[in-house]
Amino acid sequence: AVKQNRGNSYQFYNSEINARTVNRQNLERQLREAVSKGELQLLYQPALSLGNGRIIAAEALLRWHHPERGLLLPEQFIGVAEETGVIVPIGEWVIHHACAQMKLWQDGGFDLSLAVNLSNREFHQPHFLEQTLTALSETGMKAGTLQMEIPERAIMENGASSRQNMLRLTEAGVAFCVDDFGVGSSSLQRIRQLPIAKLKIDRSFIRNLENPDNLDVVTAMICMSHSLKLTVNAVGVERPEQLELMQNYGCDEVQGDLIGRPLPAAEFEGMLARRSAR
Ligand code: C2E
Ligand code: MG
Ligand code: MG
Repeated sequence: AVKQNRGNSYQFYNSEINARTVNRQNLERQLREAVSKGELQLLYQPALSLGNGRIIAAEALLRWHHPERGLLLPEQFIGVAEETGVIVPIGEWVIHHACAQMKLWQDGGFDLSLAVNLSNREFHQPHFLEQTLTALSETGMKAGTLQMEIPERAIMENGASSRQNMLRLTEAGVAFCVDDFGVGSSSLQRIRQLPIAKLKIDRSFIRNLENPDNLDVVTAMICMSHSLKLTVNAVGVERPEQLELMQNYGCDEVQGDLIGRPLPAAEFEGMLARRSAR
């Protein structure tokens, strides 16, 4: 009986792994095709300056219109894309597409920056610098209005060339932000060593600002950012009370559903026009 049991559970285990592998292989193949089939889309979420009340940036957020599964969020495919390396061609599509869109908006007279997200692997891949400079030159978007958001965890990884790449791009005008700030274990030392312009406080801290402990942490993050001469952005502002707290505690900018949900380019432009961001 014991033998039988072990046999069964082994088989079960095996077929479960096989199913997962097949799923991953399917997902990987479908992801590779997603770019050429035009299944990827960027939505744009506004960032509001609390200093002047203007929309100062658009963050590009990736969506995948999967042929069978419908609309997928990054959390449903970025992980596999990272592990398989498909994130590199996807990231290339993202930066080109986002910069081309921003160039159109800038030519239309809208004055705002573009924020693009990078995953760990994209940031550390050998063509990162060249790919970014190519996207800027091919689209003609002003480098001075490009912000690159790097997850806290990727910043902390000490890639040999990452600091050099950041310095080169900073010289060209690109600004770097630490994304998801507060969830990883970042060292202030490392942040000081790198050309970083902004910290984006993770949504998990903003969610429960009514909780005095969370509010203490967030106000400390704001003070710390300012001591380090960094701009600070609070992500995930959904309620007026959160906006008011961030205003009172001197946060520089906010993002969240209260300000604006991520929108397709045409709708985002409509929102900009209504707010007369021109
Ligand atoms: P992130 O860069 O931290 O972006 C913020 C996420 O929070 C976005 O989720 C946004 O839609 C969501 N969010 C913002 N404000 C609110 C709010 O008030 N309420 C709620 N419930 N959610 C809010 P999204 O679009 O699902 O993206 C998740 C993550 O996927 C991003 O987190 C980013 O790390 C990654 N990502 C998105 N686009 C790209 C991309 O083009 N390339 C790479 N490598 N990663 C991307
Ligand atoms: Mg981001
Ligand atoms: Mg995040």
